[in-house]
This record gives sequence, structure tokens and C-alpha cells, in this order.
Amino acid sequence: MIPQFIEHIGIAVNSLEESIPYYENVLGLKCYAVEEVTDQKVKTAFFKVGQTKIELLEATSPDSPIAKFIEKKGPGVHHMAFAVENLEQQLETIAQKGVQLIDQTPRKGAEGLHIAFLHPKSTLGVLTELCENKSK
Ligand code: ZN
Repeated sequence: MIPQFIEHIGIAVNSLEESIPYYENVLGLKCYAVEEVTDQKVKTAFFKVGQTKIELLEATSPDSPIAKFIEKKGPGVHHMAFAVENLEQQLETIAQKGVQLIDQTPRKGAEGLHIAFLHPKSTLGVLTELCENKSK
């Protein structure tokens, strides 16, 4: 697998409302979308840095994976996402290489992307997401 580029970096925050001003006022980025992903019990806010996005993640429920992450580690970098082609096929190949998958098959993520997570136990501690933009 050769990732095309870093699609986004996911950052766990306590509150989007309190975090967005840092990205807008200090880094000078513009929040261009806020979206709830009910599936993952998160609300997301997006910024673009060139081709790569920053995805802020706020838990919408105490049993959200983001709530659990913050409880354990505090706010901060949560995952890294690579843009790939043929996601389904990539997952098969990666699994054959002994990597533990969180998602055996792609599911719908924010912005209509097809996504799948690899287990951080198999990825040197970095929760890794693969994204495919099928609308391209
Ligand atoms: Zn993500």
C-alpha cells in the first residue's frame, strides 16, 4: 500500500467551541465544516492545511471512543489518516501482513469518505485511519 497523502490528523478535544478559536485566531485557519458523526458519537470540526485537514473531535456521549480516549490520555493527537485508493483491497492486504484491523470492511466517515481503522497495537501506537474518497 502506498498512501497518497495525509488526509487528516484527528485531534481529541474537550469542546469544539473552546478549541476552534485557537485554530482560527492563532494559526489563522478557517473552520469550514462542523459535522456530527452519530455512528462514532462525535462532533467534528474541519480545517484545511494545504491538502491535509485537521479534524477536531468532540465526544457527544460519555461512551464515545473520544470520551474514553480523553479520560485515559487527555486531549491531544488521536489518529492519523492516510488517503488511499481501493480501500477494501488494501484492508485485505494489510490483514494478510498480520495487522489487526478495527474495521474489517470500510464504513462511512465524515465528509462522505469511506474509512477503516487499523488497531494501534499493530501500528506502533498510532491509531491509523485509511480513507477513500469515492466521489473523486
Ligand atoms: Zn479521522
